Amino acid sequence: MSGQLKGEKVFQGIGVSAGVCRGKVIVLRRTRRAILKRELPDDSITPEIKRFEHVLVRTRQQITEVQRRVAETMSTSEADIFDAHLLMLEDRVLIEEVFKIIREQKANAEYAFHTASDRYIAVLEAVEDEYLRERAADLRDLTNRVLDNLMDVKDAYNLRHLSEPCILVGHDLSPSMTATLDKKFVLGFATDIGGKTSHTAILARSLDIPAAVGLQNASEELDTGDYVLLDGYNGTVVVNPTDQTLFEYGQLVKIKASLDEKLREIQFQPAVTLDGKTIHLSANIEDQHDVAAVTRHGAEGVGLFRTEFLYINRDSLPTEDEQYEVYRSVAAALKPNPVIIRTLDIGGDKFASQLQLAHELNPFLGWRAIRFCLAQPQLFCAQLRAILRAGVEGNIKMMYPMISGLDELNQANQLVEQCKAELRAQNIPFAENLDIGVMIEIPSAALIADTLAKKVKFFSIGSNDLIQYALAADRTNERVSHLYEPTHPAILKLIKMTVDAAHANGIWCGVCGEIAGDPILTALLVGLGVDELSTAPAVLDEVKYIIRRVKLEEARLLAEFALKCDSPSQILMRCAELALQTAPSLFENKAMLPAPQG
Ligand code: PEP
Ligand code: MG
Repeated sequence: MSGQLKGEKVFQGIGVSAGVCRGKVIVLRRTRRAILKRELPDDSITPEIKRFEHVLVRTRQQITEVQRRVAETMSTSEADIFDAHLLMLEDRVLIEEVFKIIREQKANAEYAFHTASDRYIAVLEAVEDEYLRERAADLRDLTNRVLDNLMDVKDAYNLRHLSEPCILVGHDLSPSMTATLDKKFVLGFATDIGGKTSHTAILARSLDIPAAVGLQNASEELDTGDYVLLDGYNGTVVVNPTDQTLFEYGQLVKIKASLDEKLREIQFQPAVTLDGKTIHLSANIEDQHDVAAVTRHGAEGVGLFRTEFLYINRDSLPTEDEQYEVYRSVAAALKPNPVIIRTLDIGGDKFASQLQLAHELNPFLGWRAIRFCLAQPQLFCAQLRAILRAGVEGNIKMMYPMISGLDELNQANQLVEQCKAELRAQNIPFAENLDIGVMIEIPSAALIADTLAKKVKFFSIGSNDLIQYALAADRTNERVSHLYEPTHPAILKLIKMTVDAAHANGIWCGVCGEIAGDPILTALLVGLGVDELSTAPAVLDEVKYIIRRVKLEEARLLAEFALKCDSPSQILMRCAELALQTAPSLFENKAMLPAPQG
């Protein structure tokens, strides 16, 4: 227990996954370990120096091993970043300084190394040269590794082996961390940073557990064992909730239970507007285990299979056969409904810790998704072959992420043709005519949608990225979350442009970003002409509830208004009004609706 937080205290952040839960927290803190100075007896000084030298050797072996794995699985340039660590590990000035502190101050090696490296870090951080300043981060990393080895610290928490239900709190929960969790024991997530489309938020919705992000300093102030109530509607974490608070939340939970009842009734009904327009409702999934939720929530297939989760948290890349088996089993389980596999979208905020890409100043604008895959044809072709082979099931489609222009699409298609030729030559069965689409998530792609539409079978709008790129607002940064506005007129124009280009060229257009799962925006998207919405399985029912209660005509009028209006908040209010009027019971918890502006 923290012992610091005795009474009720509320942390306010952003609610990103609906629901309320309460329980004990586990704080995943990036600990600044306490390094204590111990005075050594004279006869322990030489053994202490030896111990330090052994740890340097062990650390060197670990780094070389990581480097070898990275070189094997990525490229040598990624592996090169570890050269800096190895060089620092051999830095005689630093090592002599540590020896000196051990000898002269009769101090333990942890203290000596920490003191010496801190001095170095301070010097590096103070220089003007950006390259040298970055070396400070390298040295900090290395220092942590050496200190872990000296103190024999293993991973503080093994998330694979949680043994009781808990709420996970962290500064951030990286994909590599959350991918290892034993999900059945996780009641909710709470993080200091992040926005509605950060990975933590997406994962929470896909697990159907409450989550709040952007809580600023919650992970600093909370301690493992603290008892909290987490409200994923309003983005609050209440520590030591009073009886009154618990009572109020009890009411909220009851409202949610009665809503769930209503939603269950329509789970297997079609998503058709009152005047007969059918919208294809599919689910977003991250691995083959999500298939059960797809079926349970009555989704008509998968609109986005985020395949990067097959690649993270492992020492080697997934083989073609391994991927084939996963894709095939998902397709077989959901037949005849379509399964859209998105090719690897790694980079940005989505990379595993043990296979770090080189540090980039602007990772979201950097070496990510299709850019990465086109530069790694071997890795990409293993996935393409697996998808083509699994396509024999008959219901698989494929789409490329982060297409910014025609060249990338052509290059990717060329690789597909090359893979097909190889499979043909090897007599391996595959789908000759697999539908290929692109995600529209970079503004340039929306602007040339008419050209792209002539080359593909469908579009899927990745609004999470489209919004961040069009509005220059980092999707994971809570400080700019007020700028991340799905109803910004620029976004609506890009969506409209994409849908119109698709239809003019006889192809369909879906939305698979998080806005597709926001019931307040459902009518707007339908009115803009979107044919398919793909959402986390758990929120699909609410979207369907709205669709079944709205008229296409009303949705079109809303879209017409929105396309003429220049105020994002006015558009949002109009959307909320129509949603409330259409399906009041969805919004009995009024906090889910946007507050009137001005
Ligand atoms: C998107 O960008 O909207 C999307 C669906 O892809 P991801 O969230 O995986 O980047
Ligand atoms: Mg995206």
